[in-house]
Amino acid sequence: MNSHRFSKISIHPLFWLMIAAGILTGHLWETVIAFTVVFIHELGHALVAQWFGWDVTEIELLPFGGVAKIDSHNEHPFHEECLVLIAGPLQNLWLPLLSFGLLNFSFWGEAQHQIFLAQNNALLLFNLLPIWPLDGGRLLHVFLDMVYPYKSAYKRVLYFSTAALFVFGLLVCWHYPFSVNLWMVVIFILFAIYKERRLLPLRLLRFLLAVSSRKNVYPRFKNLTVTKGTTFAEIFTLFYRNAEHHIRIKDRNDPPIDGKRLANAYFNGTLEGDTIGDYR
Ligand SMILES: [Zn+2]
Repeated sequence: MNSHRFSKISIHPLFWLMIAAGILTGHLWETVIAFTVVFIHELGHALVAQWFGWDVTEIELLPFGGVAKIDSHNEHPFHEECLVLIAGPLQNLWLPLLSFGLLNFSFWGEAQHQIFLAQNNALLLFNLLPIWPLDGGRLLHVFLDMVYPYKSAYKRVLYFSTAALFVFGLLVCWHYPFSVNLWMVVIFILFAIYKERRLLPLRLLRFLLAVSSRKNVYPRFKNLTVTKGTTFAEIFTLFYRNAEHHIRIKDRNDPPIDGKRLANAYFNGTLEGDTIGDYR
């Protein structure tokens, strides 16, 4: 445990809208319960992230959970990411016990208990769908990062999420065509994916910056064989997360070029030429 503290807890406008709608339509209990379930879910992510010493810059509450905002300048091991992601839905597994316990109090009746169980289970199941930025989609992203280079994994998770969201949208059309809440969430996720796709070049740059300034050496090694005409930019798109890279140039017997040193030279402005063939 370290001394970092959450600097901010915020509520996403979409959640405000749903809270306001809940109050205006007299669904006070539903609103209070939704807020509690989401808050404890989110706290699960944040506490485990803090336990690992990550900088949690902000906790944003979304109607379907969302994820605590983590400073992304540092790299995190895959197992830590998986545990932080699982820590949210894990809260929804014990939360029904809280509701059972509350049944001992006069303000908590069978009606509240049933609303609680329904909302808790809906959040748990929805959140595990393999759609980014839901927890299930983020978990899928971590697994793709283990298999594919950073940029490719990012693209894949966003494409897959768009397709999965489309299927989910069809199911909503079929079963709950008039659920305003569900449609708002679907549209929110669609925008989030679109925005993230546009931010991809910036994400890649940040990733490379983290690679260039990392202090630890990862046990995972990736050998990249390229032709001498391959540009530096093309080589960087082949970099994997949490890995060291050895770059070899085809038909040359030079010792391999270290990926971190290459990224370092890129940010220091000491790279001459555009292609790896120019590298000294
Ligand atoms: Zn979550």
